[in-house]
Amino acid sequence: MTVSRTPRIVIIGAGAVGADTAYTLYLRERAPDIVLVDIDEQRARGEALDMQHGQALAGGARVRAGDYADCAGAAIVIITAGAAQKPGQSREALLERNGAIMASIVAAAERHMGPDTVLLIATNPVDTLAQIAARHAERPNSQVIGSGTVLDSARLRWGLGEVLGVDARHVHAHVIGEHGDSELVVWSHAQVAGAPLALPAAQREEIARATRDGAYEVIRAKGHTSYAIALSLDRICAAILNDDHAVLTVSTNLDGAYGVSDLYLSVPCVVGRAGVERVIEMALDGPERAALAHSASVLRARIDGIASGTPEADNAVSTSG
Ligand code: NAD
Repeated sequence: MTVSRTPRIVIIGAGAVGADTAYTLYLRERAPDIVLVDIDEQRARGEALDMQHGQALAGGARVRAGDYADCAGAAIVIITAGAAQKPGQSREALLERNGAIMASIVAAAERHMGPDTVLLIATNPVDTLAQIAARHAERPNSQVIGSGTVLDSARLRWGLGEVLGVDARHVHAHVIGEHGDSELVVWSHAQVAGAPLALPAAQREEIARATRDGAYEVIRAKGHTSYAIALSLDRICAAILNDDHAVLTVSTNLDGAYGVSDLYLSVPCVVGRAGVERVIEMALDGPERAALAHSASVLRARIDGIASGTPEADNAVSTSG
């Protein structure tokens, strides 16, 4: 498939995640034209200007503040915009609010985007919001991607690398399912150079817990997470722009794979210029299959709750970052 696109990346939402993503893309010269759009125009302008001031010291990429018209010809539109939880506001109410914001942002971007643009969603809860984005997008689901558990898999590989004394880039391990509390580690396929990991069950449990709760720890310490998600979004952008066919645990609409249909969640996917090219079915063991089914049921209840306007009270949305 031949696709020609302007090498532009638009980021909607210039908060901590959006700005750090722009900075990562800028330093790595991922695209010559990086555009920040925010309802708070001054914030987008300030973040872009701060980066522009380093232009003489940086590479060839440029960052600027813009608007939805810049989505025309963009290769990728990343959405990191969202309302923060207000005092007294339930997570369900926040989800309804962010669902409405996502729908309006996608509609505004769709007025300008070309048919080949890939939409990349990071706003939480990312699986549900990617599914809402896909419902409102005028493009195939394969071109609407959630950042999913790319970040969680990176956290896992870092944690394992520390324990094993091995470069995290050479640890092969995946977190799948929800980006949030019901996610699971696929221990049956975790390996280094084909060798299975000889870790006691208690240590595995602790590494899985640290992976799952990693965001809470960072948020408690500094208020938000942004650098590692920025690197995760950069990796997904590289896979799309370079047509890498990279295997990444992005959130995608499963269409029968793993026994799940019409639901966004993360499993290993081949990612290239057209977005998600295909899903890879790992041979999960029994407990992993059960854990993935549970994660899917959590996400199913959440998206069904949104559709009816009455999310289940006990279907709490994790604020994992
Ligand atoms: P933030 O509050 O710093 O930034 C959000 C930005 O969105 C603000 O600048 C706000 O003005 C903007 N915004 C709100 N409504 C908008 C609209 N309608 N149009 C355009 N812009 C709008 O928050 P943050 O720390 O940058 O986090 C952003 C989102 O990313 C959150 O939902 C967070 O949970 C999520 N996140 C996801 C991951 C992941 O792995 N998927 C990791 C970290 C954070």
